[in-house]
Amino acid sequence: MHELALMEALSELALEQAERHGGGSIRSITLRIGSLAGVELEALQLAFAVVMERQGAVPVELRIESVAARCYCPSCESEFEAIDGCCECPECGCISHDLLAGRELDLVSLELE
Ligand SMILES: [Zn+2]
Repeated sequence: MHELALMEALSELALEQAERHGGGSIRSITLRIGSLAGVELEALQLAFAVVMERQGAVPVELRIESVAARCYCPSCESEFEAIDGCCECPECGCISHDLLAGRELDLVSLELE
């Protein structure tokens, strides 16, 4: 499962950061996930619970900021939201190859105790 591997990597990163900031335990983790990142949010929540349980960590809250995919159309010189990952401009039908947002997969912040 892709999400499990991802969550393992993210939790390692989070623990590393926590250690660097004094070694407190993590209270919450905030992730930013683009709608085209190829991640199932439900599966991610599940993977998060599995990884945290395995580490015997105290309950950690997972917050997810989702980011809508946005494209830039060079013909209209405008930005539009890429609904369902479709990069066809709603104005002129031009296929945009310029994805501005939507592939994010970032650890945004950690809240430590
Ligand atoms: Zn256009």
